[in-house]
Amino acid sequence: MKIYADNAATTKMSSAAMQAQIACMEEYFANPSSLHSLGQRAAEQLFAFRESVARCLGAQAREITFTSGGSEADNQAILSAAAAGEKKGKKHIVSSAFEHHAVLHTLQNLERRGFSVTLLPVHENGIVRIEELRDALREDTALVTILYANNEIGTIQPIEEIGAICRERGILFHTDAVQAVGQLPINLQNIDLLSLSAHKFHGPKGVGALYARKGVPLSPLIAGGAQERGKRAGTENLPAIAGMAAALEEACAHMEENAKHIKALRDRLIAGLQTIPHSALSGDAHKRLPGNVHFCFEGIEGESLLLLLDARGICASSGSACTSGSLEASHVLLAIGRPHEVAHGSLRLTLSRETTQEEVDAIICAVTEVVATLRAMSPLWRDLEEGRREHVL
Ligand SMILES: *Cc1c(COP(=O)(O)O)cnc(C)c1O
Repeated sequence: MKIYADNAATTKMSSAAMQAQIACMEEYFANPSSLHSLGQRAAEQLFAFRESVARCLGAQAREITFTSGGSEADNQAILSAAAAGEKKGKKHIVSSAFEHHAVLHTLQNLERRGFSVTLLPVHENGIVRIEELRDALREDTALVTILYANNEIGTIQPIEEIGAICRERGILFHTDAVQAVGQLPINLQNIDLLSLSAHKFHGPKGVGALYARKGVPLSPLIAGGAQERGKRAGTENLPAIAGMAAALEEACAHMEENAKHIKALRDRLIAGLQTIPHSALSGDAHKRLPGNVHFCFEGIEGESLLLLLDARGICASSGSACTSGSLEASHVLLAIGRPHEVAHGSLRLTLSRETTQEEVDAIICAVTEVVATLRAMSPLWRDLEEGRREHVL
């Protein structure tokens, strides 16, 4: 029996999403751009899925562009806003130090093209400060892009306030809401651009969407046909879009009860792991995603911890799936001020609506034992215990 606690990396598709996807493949296989009746029926379905996704977000159907996922939506949102800004001579962008790489690397590419980027610090609680955002804004700021909830430590950013400030100053605001959609309520009032990805809310992989408020211009990343009103070429992945729409409807219909269930398990898990000496929860204890638990353990190497947990049937992560495999410390943990040696001993456990209390208790037990085992073997831990090194946690 496996315990899956890596839902920030991806979630298991729900059976409703799978069924919607299969039904779509059987019924609506035609190309929505074809003029014949089967094509037109597929086009009608495409519109129905667009309306369904829009309704869940509180948007209008024409404000939704389907993409291949969160990374593409982030790229397109930022590059579109940058292009619009550049036309007006505005080449400054404000973001945060702990964005997803889809945002950070896009910003780095823009810097090479002469844009200047200010990355706001996120402090120990993992939350950007409104005052620092205000101070960072300039006459030539074209875009503010701040994620809704961080994918490693789960902290939730004050995006409504940030959006209001941007609106007041006439600056476009994009939020990478990939971790939030389906889990947290979305208020689009002051949001111009928002990215989402189906596989983070029990939908299929390789499909997502970009919300762009009416009037906010999108520039295509992919040249070709006129699909998605000319904003994204390529025959639409209708079955995946069907699965995404079904998964989102399901997640939004049960959001409150799911959040309540998951939060209770999260807090039980946090309380259990806090009894491990020289450990620390990363980021604010309350302003975090319902299912996110992230700890650093002193004197531990994160990779070993993961392997030993895996041997006990527990699937966890050291942080972002995108940085695992590299030996660099997580940019997120460094951004919240964790020293390198502590950042290497990190563990991310992310729960879902399918997680049970028995699983949480098994995780607490396994992590406690594995941490003790690894520390018993660690020369670094011996130095700490015998006072040759100072504890930092
Ligand atoms: C997973 C994730 C992405 C990337 O989404 P994909 O659909 O996998 O490309 C972007 N941002 C955040 C915050 C994520 O968690």
